Amino acid sequence: MGKVLIIGAGGVGTVVVHKVAQNADVFTEIMLASRTKSKCDAVAADIKKRYGVEVKTAQVDADNVSDLVTLFKKFQPKLVINVALPYQDLTIMDACLEAGCNYLDTANYEPKDEAHFEYSWQWAYQDRFKKAGLTAILGCGFDPGQTGVYTAYAAKHHFDEMHYLDIVDCNAGDHHHAFATNFNPEINIREITQNGRYYENGKWVTTGPLEHHKALNYPEIGPKESYLLYHEELESLVKNYPSIKRARFWMTFGQEYLTHLRVIQNIGMARIDEVEYNGVKIVPLQFLKAVLPNPQDLGENYSGWTSIGCRIRGIKDGKEKTYYIYNNCSHEAAYKETGMQGVSYTTGVPAMTGAYMFMTGKWSGAGVFNVEEFDPDPFMEKVAESGLPWHEIVDGDLEL
Ligand code: NDP
Repeated sequence: MGKVLIIGAGGVGTVVVHKVAQNADVFTEIMLASRTKSKCDAVAADIKKRYGVEVKTAQVDADNVSDLVTLFKKFQPKLVINVALPYQDLTIMDACLEAGCNYLDTANYEPKDEAHFEYSWQWAYQDRFKKAGLTAILGCGFDPGQTGVYTAYAAKHHFDEMHYLDIVDCNAGDHHHAFATNFNPEINIREITQNGRYYENGKWVTTGPLEHHKALNYPEIGPKESYLLYHEELESLVKNYPSIKRARFWMTFGQEYLTHLRVIQNIGMARIDEVEYNGVKIVPLQFLKAVLPNPQDLGENYSGWTSIGCRIRGIKDGKEKTYYIYNNCSHEAAYKETGMQGVSYTTGVPAMTGAYMFMTGKWSGAGVFNVEEFDPDPFMEKVAESGLPWHEIVDGDLEL
């Protein structure tokens, strides 16, 4: 039980506030802080109307450690949920250490001037969090997050040894825009335009961007072309499950989306370096974000489903076994409940669930943790009752 501070009033932050407000017996005081306070106030007003729960709001620059420390010392949260951008992970972790707060996020650190993400920067905080007796929970959205918990659940209940892991992420929804990204466009486009990478026999194999693809069947959805990408949870999962021989990540994209993406790249709008325009320095990708549809506004006309899960092959009782665990989430249902689309919803619900695990003492320990290091069982129970039920297919065809 205790106070929680959510940083970032975007699509994911809005869902997290809904979900913590629905669990106000555990999250006894709630604050939402972000760069633009008016966005926090609008969310707080909606929450008050829907649930009668008070949400405090504040303006904060999460790139500025002393700004953050001042806010943390004033509000004194037990846990800070970081759903701003991956650029702010380290400043928020620094401020948590200085003010004595615990930490949770949904995406690993990425420097602004380099489209590159890895856990080393945040794992380097291990000793400092341990020494301070504080907990940092990394990557607790859906992917990373729920996918790590699914893998931990599979390891605990279904396998003696896991050998092949494929994480499959399908968005079969339609937002009725020619081109839009489902979460922050800058982060999204940086992620999918870089080289692909997967793990095989102890080594990382690099591929061209979106070079490998194949049609995979998603339950209740059907076949969708799926593209091999690098995704951050692969790094922690192969470290925490050394029996894994191969780990890959696949995401679906429609042809229309890929054509737009190719044009964006070809005309230089995906560049992340500064260019001079009319005497002002601008970053083309940041400018593009300003003119694209805001992911938070996609919900209203979004139809269809997301389907994300883990397909695992390994050994149980001396025999080969396959296991597919997944969630299907309806964009319409997500919008009805929170005013946000399914991608924000599937990220925000596991973030609240991880926070709930921490607040209720079910996940604990001093140091920096990836989600698969904790007991998956209480998380699985809570996340299912919070809107993301899961399904299993045992000994089916994994297609991979
Ligand atoms: P949005 O862009 O919608 O929201 C980000 C919010 O952070 C905005 O309200 C923004 O403020 C605020 N913000 C940005 N910079 C600062 C700053 N310096 N100080 C204070 N506030 C700041 O992004 P999403 O909600 O879509 O994504 C949030 C996070 O979730 C991202 O880190 C993303 O990578 C992650 N994510 C994780 C997924 C997973 O499954 N693990 C999936 C999807 C997203 P303003 O409103 O003023 O712009």
